Order: sequence, then C-alpha cells, then structure tokens
Amino acid sequence: MTMWNLTPLSNLNAREHLDIAFANGEVTEIEKKFLMNLYEQYKTTLGRPSFSMQAQGQRPELYNLIHDAYGLVQDNRKLKKLRAELKLLADYCPYCGFAPISDLDHHLQHNRFKLLSIFALNLIPCCSPCNTGKRRSPSDKPAEHQLHTYLESVANYDFLRATVTLHPGTGALEVVYLVEKCVGMSAELYLRLTNHLTEFDLHKKYAKQVNIHLSEHQFGMEMAYQNGEIMLRAYLNGTANAHAKNFGVNDWRTALFRGLALCDGFCNGGFKKALGQKS
Ligand SMILES: [Zn+2]
Repeated sequence: MTMWNLTPLSNLNAREHLDIAFANGEVTEIEKKFLMNLYEQYKTTLGRPSFSMQAQGQRPELYNLIHDAYGLVQDNRKLKKLRAELKLLADYCPYCGFAPISDLDHHLQHNRFKLLSIFALNLIPCCSPCNTGKRRSPSDKPAEHQLHTYLESVANYDFLRATVTLHPGTGALEVVYLVEKCVGMSAELYLRLTNHLTEFDLHKKYAKQVNIHLSEHQFGMEMAYQNGEIMLRAYLNGTANAHAKNFGVNDWRTALFRGLALCDGFCNGGFKKALGQKS
C-alpha cells in the first residue's frame, strides 16, 4: 500500500544511529539512554505532538547537537544508509499517493522537536511538495494532528470517496474528494483524515492528477463503451478493484474509479465530452 500508511523499518537501530552520529562522546551515555526513553514514549503516544515530546530540561547544547545531526542523514554522510533504507519503504509519497519520493519529512517538526531529529520512526519518506507544504509547527487542535504514517493504521476503514459530477453547462468533469465517516471510526480520526486532504492541498493536486490519470484510460473506456453503458461501468469497477488491490481501497485512484462508475452522466456517454474538457 502506498497512500496513508507505510510499514516502518523492521529494525529501527535507534541506538546504533546515536552511536554513529556521536562516536566521540559528544552525547553522553546517560543522554543516549534518555533519548531511547523518549523514543519509546514517542511510540506509545503514536507520535502525537505534545509538550513532553519537546523533552525540555536537558543541557541546551544537546538540542542543537541532535538537531544538527540530521545533516548526517544526507547522501554521502555518516547516516546515509538510514536515508536509503527509508526511501525504499515507499513507491510513492504516502501523503498524496502519486508523487515520487524525494524527501524525508519529520513527522514531528524538527525545529520544534529537536531531540527527535534522527529517530527513524519520525522520518517519513515523501515528495518535496508535500514536505514543503506542510505546516511548520503542529496545530493546537487534536483534530488537525497529522496521521502517523507508520504508527496509525487506517487499513480497517474504507473511507476515501470521490464524488463525480458533470458540469451542467460544459459537461466538464468535476471530482470532489472527501472522507466518509465509517462505522467504528472515531470523530477525531474522521476530522484528522479530512484535514489531511486540505493540509497537503490534495483537492488542488488531485484536480490535475485526475486528468492525467484518466487520459491513460481513455482508449479503454471508449472500447468498453462500444458495448454499452453496462460494459463501461464494468470497466470502471474492474479498474477500481485493480487499483484497490495494488494501492489499497483508500487510494485516490481507487476512489476515483468507484466515483466514475456511480456517475450516470459519465457512464451513459458523457465521458467523451468530460475527458475532452480540461477544466
Ligand atoms: Zn506527496
């Protein structure tokens, strides 16, 4: 699965990374133990932002030492292996689901949560636009807290929807992505998932991706429609199922094809005009 969740590194090697970064005693054994404790706490609290994750009260230099050690997680520096391993965890950015991996995002921002700067669980491979578009410090509102890509699985829910309509005047395709509140889903998770779509500007990004992706399916749709509306719907549903299998039920492409299959105007011939229009 590529969107929303990634499986974390099977061995985080957190202690080893601290030893590699601070091989000359710049960080004491006691401090390393303190950091390992903080990492454990991070796991237990699922990486949610909190005052205690800032871990104040240590000597001031420690915060900058760890913060600056992130520079070692660059190509050709001491922790380059960590970078390479993390980038292999995903085919596409887990935040948007379509762009290639280019960056590592600090789930808890490393200007705020300095002691988490080189902790593998706090490093999420993602695309550059998602990384740079993300807020600089976490929201005060829990309903706006970013979902943790490694620690908070949403695989038990089928929540992403794309509502497809055709513009009454021009016939152009109009796709609106939204999160459906599933049975058993908490109100807070619903709000956080909904917030994810706006936080990473996905409404705007998907408008373009939808056009690109559908143009690749134009011929398939035309062929299917030669045998009628029912066959076009079968093509759309079949493609949705294939996407669900490859990318997950909450992938933007799965939601798109499901939404298209539910749009009568699109299926009864409107698709030709809809795909011809670049709205
Ligand atoms: Zn992205």
